[in-house]
Amino acid sequence: MNVHFLGTAAFEGIPSLFCQCDTCKQAQARGGKNIRTRTSVMIDGELKIDFPPDTCHHAIRDNIDMDKVKDLIFTHSHSDHLYAEDMLIRMAGYAKSGDHPIHVYGHDLPIRSCIEKLGMQQDKYRFHIIKPFEPVQTQTATIVPLVADHDMTETCLVYHIEKDGKTIFYGHDSGWFPEQTWQWLKGKKLDLAILECTTGKLGGRSNHMNADCVLETKEWLLANEIMNPGGKFVVTHFSHNAHLLHEDLTEIFEPHGITVAYDGMKIEL
Ligand SMILES: [Zn+2]
Ligand SMILES: [Zn+2]
Ligand SMILES: [Zn+2]
Repeated sequence: MNVHFLGTAAFEGIPSLFCQCDTCKQAQARGGKNIRTRTSVMIDGELKIDFPPDTCHHAIRDNIDMDKVKDLIFTHSHSDHLYAEDMLIRMAGYAKSGDHPIHVYGHDLPIRSCIEKLGMQQDKYRFHIIKPFEPVQTQTATIVPLVADHDMTETCLVYHIEKDGKTIFYGHDSGWFPEQTWQWLKGKKLDLAILECTTGKLGGRSNHMNADCVLETKEWLLANEIMNPGGKFVVTHFSHNAHLLHEDLTEIFEPHGITVAYDGMKIEL
């Protein structure tokens, strides 16, 4: 399985629009892995998680054929994860796209947001409202939506994804997971855990994770024997407000065997 990190920033991007902070200036000057766009992941070129406003840039930068996407899964409706306006480009008159509908999965708010912008559009998109802890067989994978701790006004989801015999836990945006999610994970086996570290050494364990919370989550997954041998840990979804450059993040996480994601990073499972 190929896991391609298209974007690795929180809402603001790094360097952030308008920002004059030292972190953004340093990121701009150093470039490379310090340049981060809004978070999304592509699996095997056919299963995409979230549709941020940087999707056009991701496709151009990494030479991706977005029309090969079969399934699109939404974590929640925040604008760094869902920019339905650009999904409209798949319609006749804007693009000469394929005939197959892309199947779109999410809780009610993201799906309603898509339908408000796109109409029902059954020929180009097929919408599915999913519920926490109810497994869904998509065209490409078996997904189980789990609950996040992120925004009390919305049912935000994280995911267990099983595809071609490999399993991923997709864990953002969220703070320390609600008890039902931990309980559901018990007895499962993972090849990859993708966690978030929006707040770096600041913040805490509500709504988003800081570094200590990520380390604690890793320890919990190991202590409960949830990781398969060789199972990998990746952190993503970083904010400039944590004031950590890529090398600062690797200093924190690499000694713990956790890979710091960067835009364009690919890992094979
Ligand atoms: Zn986010
Ligand atoms: Zn900044
Ligand atoms: Zn969010």
